[in-house]
Amino acid sequence: MAEKSFKYVIVGGGVAAGYAAREFAKQGINPGELAIISKEAVAPYERPALSKAYLFPEGTARLPGFHVCVGSGGERLLPEWYKEKGIELILSTQIVKADLGSKSLISEAGEVFKYNILIIATGSTVIRLTDFGVEGADAKNILYLREIDDADKLVDAIKAKKNGKAVIVGGGYIGLELSAALRINNLEVTMVYPEPWCMPRLFTAGIAAFYEGYYANKGIEIIKGTVAVGFTSDSNGEVKEVKLKDGRVLEADIVIVGVGGRPLTSLFKGQIAEEKGGIKTDGFFGTSVPDVYAVGDVATFPMKLYNDIRRVEHVDHARKSAEQAVKAIKANEEGKTIDEYDYLPYFYSRAFNLSWQFYGDNVGDTVLFGDNSPTSPKPKFGTYWVQDGKVVGAFLEGGSPEENQAIAKVARTKPPIENLDTLTKEGLSFATKI
Ligand code: FAD
Repeated sequence: MAEKSFKYVIVGGGVAAGYAAREFAKQGINPGELAIISKEAVAPYERPALSKAYLFPEGTARLPGFHVCVGSGGERLLPEWYKEKGIELILSTQIVKADLGSKSLISEAGEVFKYNILIIATGSTVIRLTDFGVEGADAKNILYLREIDDADKLVDAIKAKKNGKAVIVGGGYIGLELSAALRINNLEVTMVYPEPWCMPRLFTAGIAAFYEGYYANKGIEIIKGTVAVGFTSDSNGEVKEVKLKDGRVLEADIVIVGVGGRPLTSLFKGQIAEEKGGIKTDGFFGTSVPDVYAVGDVATFPMKLYNDIRRVEHVDHARKSAEQAVKAIKANEEGKTIDEYDYLPYFYSRAFNLSWQFYGDNVGDTVLFGDNSPTSPKPKFGTYWVQDGKVVGAFLEGGSPEENQAIAKVARTKPPIENLDTLTKEGLSFATKI
């Protein structure tokens, strides 16, 4: 079987891979030194677009419009860019075996890829209801969203089921963004999730109350405190009903499941140190195996700001960790050193006309400020998280770029506060005056 050798191989062709390629080009590589091997059929793109403009009926985003690095205001890297730089994009190629001892990867078709330095950027996969044996979960039109192929299936289903009924299982990022996207496409939308409020891992009850109210005003029905336990389908095998644990039955033409992800580390099991479900790295994204780096969703890395180690499944970290790893690789080759990764957690989401940003850590007491009425014509509100007398996290809906920068600065500098009441009264101005 064919064998190819590269100085650097990136396995996975998503967000982190694209930003790593740009950094390699910036630092200087020779043609033929770098290969990206990806299961997907397209060059790296900004994954968050799939749950947003990709699904909109108007102003629809399509490739090549959202290849990396447009999401962070950078140059759009088209397939030609990789060619010009002599970077080999090996697409539609799934690696099924990795042998870190002999520094080789093997594809489904049996091709062997050798490397000197490997960057693992395999990202996450979705958790499927079929994984838990949920009855009828393999029916047609029960859909998930991770890759562009999934998004295309969703677009087809939206077209085929015009004005139909959609049930969204899960109240996290995917649930909230997809409910909005389907509603904009004129489907009748019901969300179902077991928690007392949406996005419970980040939102407080106060934050969630705004979004739940806003969604209800858009005509989205929200059913909380129960889960989908089974599905029935019609004679074509297409989903027809969702059975809930509380006994209710919902009609559905499309079901979208967004119940979380799992980092794709299985290729390396037993060959590399893992922690908190991811591949353990140092502050340069080096792993326990020499010459092997891990970036993006799969990496469990030291979070310097909080003196612990974490895994982060967000696009900003995917971009920055990839750049850090490439800088570290290059510095190492030149006998130089770089600073350790010092990440400030940053998450965001957009749906309808809403847009929020969060920076820092969501621990400790919380303070809600601003206008969080779901019927407000211009809602702008936020929350601070306070721990040991310091503001450690900040959330803002409807902020301007300057205001978002201000809350980021608060989260980074962790300013002390006198008491929670003053902070509540000062609200956003506490951040903007710092
Ligand atoms: P990915 O971008 O997932 O890339 C992994 C790549 O590896 C994929 O191309 C995959 O096919 C490939 N791969 C995996 N296994 C193999 C293999 N064995 N062989 C070959 N190739 C393989 N984050 C935010 O902060 N804000 C958002 O608004 C937001 N929206 C999102 C919307 C959606 C629909 C999704 C799915 C995610 C969203 N995220 C968002 C999360 C963000 O996109 C991810 O954190 C980010 O893409 C992680 O980058 P990555 O490079 O680690 O993984």
